[in-house]
Amino acid sequence: MNKVDEKHSIDIIIKGDYLLPMDERNTIIEQGAVAIDGDKIVAVGEADSLINSYKAKEVIRGEGKILIPGLINGHTHSPMSLFRGFADDLPLMTWLNEHIFPAEAALVDKDFIRSGSLLGFAEMLMSGTTTFVDMYFYADITADLAHKAGIRSMLGVPCIDFPAPGTSGFDQSFDFAKAFIRKWKNKDDLITPVFAPHSPYTVSQENLQAILQEALDNDIVIHTHIAETAHEVAESLKATGKTPVEYLNSFGFFDASVIAAHMVHLTEADIVTAKEKNIGAIHNPTSNLKLASGFSPVHQLLDRGVSVGLGSDGAASNNNVDMWQEVHLTALIHKGKEANPEAVSAKQALSMATCLGAKAIHQGDKLGQLKSGYKADMIQVDYTGLLCQPMYNPFSHLAYVFTAEQVALTMIGGKVVMKDRQLLPAVFNDLADEIQEQAAKVKHWMNNRGK
Ligand SMILES: [Zn+2]
Repeated sequence: MNKVDEKHSIDIIIKGDYLLPMDERNTIIEQGAVAIDGDKIVAVGEADSLINSYKAKEVIRGEGKILIPGLINGHTHSPMSLFRGFADDLPLMTWLNEHIFPAEAALVDKDFIRSGSLLGFAEMLMSGTTTFVDMYFYADITADLAHKAGIRSMLGVPCIDFPAPGTSGFDQSFDFAKAFIRKWKNKDDLITPVFAPHSPYTVSQENLQAILQEALDNDIVIHTHIAETAHEVAESLKATGKTPVEYLNSFGFFDASVIAAHMVHLTEADIVTAKEKNIGAIHNPTSNLKLASGFSPVHQLLDRGVSVGLGSDGAASNNNVDMWQEVHLTALIHKGKEANPEAVSAKQALSMATCLGAKAIHQGDKLGQLKSGYKADMIQVDYTGLLCQPMYNPFSHLAYVFTAEQVALTMIGGKVVMKDRQLLPAVFNDLADEIQEQAAKVKHWMNNRGK
């Protein structure tokens, strides 16, 4: 047998001038490559060595590129992309009660969800997000479209104690949530169904316990909002004598795998509980800044060893779903808040959008790193543009210099879904027209409300 025949046949070898696997040693492999078969990574190493060991059907070149794991958006509401720039610069309760809730009640239907979800996915794929964790109405439509767009997701039907688009109240929302779990569990490798009770202040303890029981019985992750505002914590203390984290912990809520968005207003004891109970804390810096919710104690959470991920929140409070901005802000705002330039480093901020973010969404065993056996979710970032020069340290550029524009290729489960700034899945073909149609409806409602 000659040497060529001994090579192991695989699907793809993808290269990069710099390969950052996002491992614990912060390794940088120069002239690196990843070998992929099916939807999984089979080897990571120097390009020459992989080319010698494997016979790939396709080789994706890596000149001028950095190869890193795809970004993970740990908390968003993707269909809200259609509310981008809809209501800005308002206090949280005014923004919610006078703008978002009435608009949702009037405008959110199946067509809105379709166009809004696709717009959100388009932005995610163009900016290198390969996995997102979502909570929004009509999640079944979003799930179906996420499958067609080829993007990995953890999706949940929101459960809430009052009427909301598509549901009459908690009982119906919980029935929809259970049906959604039954339909999607183990059905599609890209889609992980989760339970999504909105928050401890919009769902009663009895109802949260019913969700918890279902989650434990069926091994389902719970995604919720916790301790977003000082007001929420004050109300929780008034009603229960406990912080939101203490209250939820008092009835075993964290026995389930929980993804907790925000975690802004925390006591020292809450941070200890987050570590002990393996709560995935999702930091949403843009949303917290824009709604003046406060600063999450990210530095302290990281010091305690809590898995902290990053999220964009919905585009209504951001106004995008671009994870580069979240990484950038995370690497800056904690330094300013703590008057400590070492508070959250570039590497830590990037890890929160990749390897540590994967742990925060309870998928650290298969996502967030370029590693043999992990899912083939990765992006190539082009560092050759004039405004990216010079580059001495890829980690520094990834946190402080690059924007979504530098993402040249997005691959999810071994499939290229965005290349050279073009979206490849056919589901995006008519999106521009669909958005115009929906935007006209939103504008009409804005102009005629109260008349
Ligand atoms: Zn949210």
